[in-house]
Amino acid sequence: MSDGSLIGWLHQPGYKPMTLNFVKGCKRRSEGCDNCFAPYSIVRHQHLPGQDGLVVRTGQGLEWTGVVQAFPDRLPPLLGMRAPRMIFVTALGELFDPQVSMSMLVELWKTMAATPQHIYVILTKLPKRMHDLVTELVRQFGILPNVWLGVSAENQHQAEVRIPWLLRTPAAIRAVSAEPLIGPINPTRLDAGKGRWINALTGDVGDDRGVYAAAPARIDWVIVGGESGKKDDIRPMHPAWAQSLLDQAARAEVAAFFKQWGGWGPAPWVVRVCDREVGWQGTAAELAAAKAAAEKIGATHSLPVWADQYDMKPTEAGHKCWSTERHPLPAGSPHAPMRYYPHKSAGHVIGGRTWQQWPKPGGGIVDASSFDQPDQAAGRLEAVPA
Ligand code: SF4
Repeated sequence: MSDGSLIGWLHQPGYKPMTLNFVKGCKRRSEGCDNCFAPYSIVRHQHLPGQDGLVVRTGQGLEWTGVVQAFPDRLPPLLGMRAPRMIFVTALGELFDPQVSMSMLVELWKTMAATPQHIYVILTKLPKRMHDLVTELVRQFGILPNVWLGVSAENQHQAEVRIPWLLRTPAAIRAVSAEPLIGPINPTRLDAGKGRWINALTGDVGDDRGVYAAAPARIDWVIVGGESGKKDDIRPMHPAWAQSLLDQAARAEVAAFFKQWGGWGPAPWVVRVCDREVGWQGTAAELAAAKAAAEKIGATHSLPVWADQYDMKPTEAGHKCWSTERHPLPAGSPHAPMRYYPHKSAGHVIGGRTWQQWPKPGGGIVDASSFDQPDQAAGRLEAVPA
């Protein structure tokens, strides 16, 4: 249990942020897990009891063993906390892992029911098990207004797999955490098979003739964020993916939260080290040295490697890639200049503003966003000599 979490979306006005690791332990479940930080956090705090056997060291780094451990002793202190807290339940594991028994979940639900002053946020990558167990729990406890349920979805495929289960799960608030966002997501057109689609932001179901039914519910909260970690591991989030998701939520009057850019953030220009027409003419070592030198003075990458995965064109011909030339991209270009921010995240301003919204149970939005914000990432680069 830890009071004072840095997770931005726990900082709702009027609530103290907090994480409650009622369960620890997990295993990788989809692409979004590739750079999971949680095993490292477990090892950093290995002096804490009950963590043996959760993580193993491999040649590639730390890895989950798949063992999941519950910590019911974390629950009683919540009963004595009078000041409202916004609590992330299980940041270091998967609450709906099959090793977590129904009786354990009943203990958690009892505590959440007895502490209506707190908001509990539960995110899962196992939405079917969440659906099955929460449906049972609701028979005993009813729908608790202070329990917000959500799924993680890092791309369109996982959105289409996980969000429909979330919409069928009884909950006061339903959230989608698109973090790390590693591909575009269109929640208004979730492929439901046989030509049908679900608009998860409005709750409409339709096909090519238009809307013909209502989904069981709609999403109340969208959280967007990029990936943090070591440069060679983490995947940049294209600004258009993040902006589009936030704009879609705004159009549907759904609360939206932009948590962070992550390690890769926007840059004001593309910088390249070789002429794309002729490619690199020197040795690999010279190329590495040229890239390192360019990066040192603030060079950016224009996404050719990873953008290709999503059918985006590589950088336009006729410009030197990786030179120190400052090259603004033409308006409407599908490319985005990005750079890695070695020491901390590239911030949480996008399109000149922050997105800090929370849904209100029963309707409405708490909005603590600020506008007319300088883009932190671009601003820092302006200090770099041309
Ligand atoms: S589900 Fe979450 S905790 Fe588990 S491996 Fe994936 S990112 Fe890590």
